[in-house]
Amino acid sequence: MTIEIQAASLRGYPLPDPGAGTKEARGSALVVAGSVEVPGAAILAGTAALRAGAGKLQMSIAAGTAPHAALAVPEALVVRLPEGADGHVDHRVAAEVLLPRTERAAAILVGAGMTAGAPTRALTAALLAGPAEAPFVLDAASIEGLCEQAEAVRARAGRVVLTPHAGEMARCLGCDREAVEADPLAAARKAAEQLGAVVVMKGAETWIVDPAGETWHYAGGGVGLATSGSGDVLAGIIVGLLARGTAPAEAAAWGVFLHGEAGRRLGESRGPIGFLARELPGEVPGLMRDVA
Ligand code: AMP
Ligand code: MG
Repeated sequence: MTIEIQAASLRGYPLPDPGAGTKEARGSALVVAGSVEVPGAAILAGTAALRAGAGKLQMSIAAGTAPHAALAVPEALVVRLPEGADGHVDHRVAAEVLLPRTERAAAILVGAGMTAGAPTRALTAALLAGPAEAPFVLDAASIEGLCEQAEAVRARAGRVVLTPHAGEMARCLGCDREAVEADPLAAARKAAEQLGAVVVMKGAETWIVDPAGETWHYAGGGVGLATSGSGDVLAGIIVGLLARGTAPAEAAAWGVFLHGEAGRRLGESRGPIGFLARELPGEVPGLMRDVA
């Protein structure tokens, strides 16, 4: 059975009640994202995590861009990652700095806006193999080649959410992008089974498959969501919902809905294309209130 993602179906999976709780109770999101070339991805994802209700935010970012990120998101604790002579962060140093923080995080995002290649894969592997008990969201460059490290993901027993678009899914499964585009649901099922993870297969329509094979579908949002940084915001919303204690498949479904509805609202108020990814998070609190 496929669950159609809409307000009515999500009301059957209510988000955790914040009650009168503290910011600690709503959890700290650790956002490991961005790069020297794309520092903004950490800002987009981090802002989205707070807008989704995470109590606290830690963002790691290359030391050279850290002061700018800290000013762009004054709510965040910014973790500086020292750069090597080539201007890039060494993945071993990054793992050393980040591993103790993963133990204290309520949810962890890795990959948005990071540079594709072996260093990002190695950092992802080190964090997955580490002591964190928190759920992970893996986005973009952290997904590539992941099916070759399936054990590290499987060991986390369904507490990993992947958010690939078709190209990233193809580089995870080791197949052609065209094959994923021809049958995105089949690709999502295959990855969810191989990795024992929740897979969010993004595109004009989005399919979510959990390790037990439960399937969710979303076809809203609008073409304006096809814009730079949009996926970083989605990953941030999901990690924020996880930090609050939402179960992984439900955080994925709610995240896709909130991101899509934010796009639909901006499409109506501003016009169907041309709104910015950074404008999406601001819609999220009101949407959560209206659906609950
Ligand atoms: P990314 O490619 O990582 O930036 O992610 C793009 C986001 O926008 C994903 O959540 C997609 O599902 C969504 N998206 C892309 N194109 C469309 C479209 N034509 N209609 C609705 N949503 C879209
Ligand atoms: Mg993306």
